[in-house]
Amino acid sequence: MTAYLSPSAFWGLLISAVEVYKRECFGLLIGYRDRRGPGQEESFIVEHALPFQSAGRKHRGVVSNPRAHRRIERFLRNIPQLSVIGDFHSHTMWGYNRAASHPSDTDLQGMERENVYVIVSVNDRLREVRWKYNDDGSLSGTTDDHYFRLTAYTVNASGEARRMPIVCPYAIGFDARPLRAIK
Ligand SMILES: [Zn+2]
Repeated sequence: MTAYLSPSAFWGLLISAVEVYKRECFGLLIGYRDRRGPGQEESFIVEHALPFQSAGRKHRGVVSNPRAHRRIERFLRNIPQLSVIGDFHSHTMWGYNRAASHPSDTDLQGMERENVYVIVSVNDRLREVRWKYNDDGSLSGTTDDHYFRLTAYTVNASGEARRMPIVCPYAIGFDARPLRAIK
């Protein structure tokens, strides 16, 4: 399984996380499932990352608002092109501890099969890093102020969380820009 991110979803994840940094954001992933690639394996196509403005935000962990959640799901049910295929939230730095990219116990409890979950780990940027795919399937890179790592999870038949590769060609070309003078 692979999670494909559209440019819109990529920006949605980054902006949601930056908006409330160093608190954590929470939101829904909108898109569809499809068979892609050489083996026609099932994939998640994430079209949009929709931040939850009513999520109660604490530094550690996000509390979602079930009524608002239901309202959004009802709204989306009437739009056949858009369906909720999972959710995302951010993990941020805590003092000198770098943000974790693995799900917490609370995260694991909220995961269901047939869904995709993206954890956006955000840290202060120490130096500029090109956007790249990592060996564990995650996608990482920097913007002016932040270092991001995007990791996607799904739940297998025995209920265990499994990382799946994120593919976002847009992000990989993202820092292709004119060279700046080195200070
Ligand atoms: Zn978490």
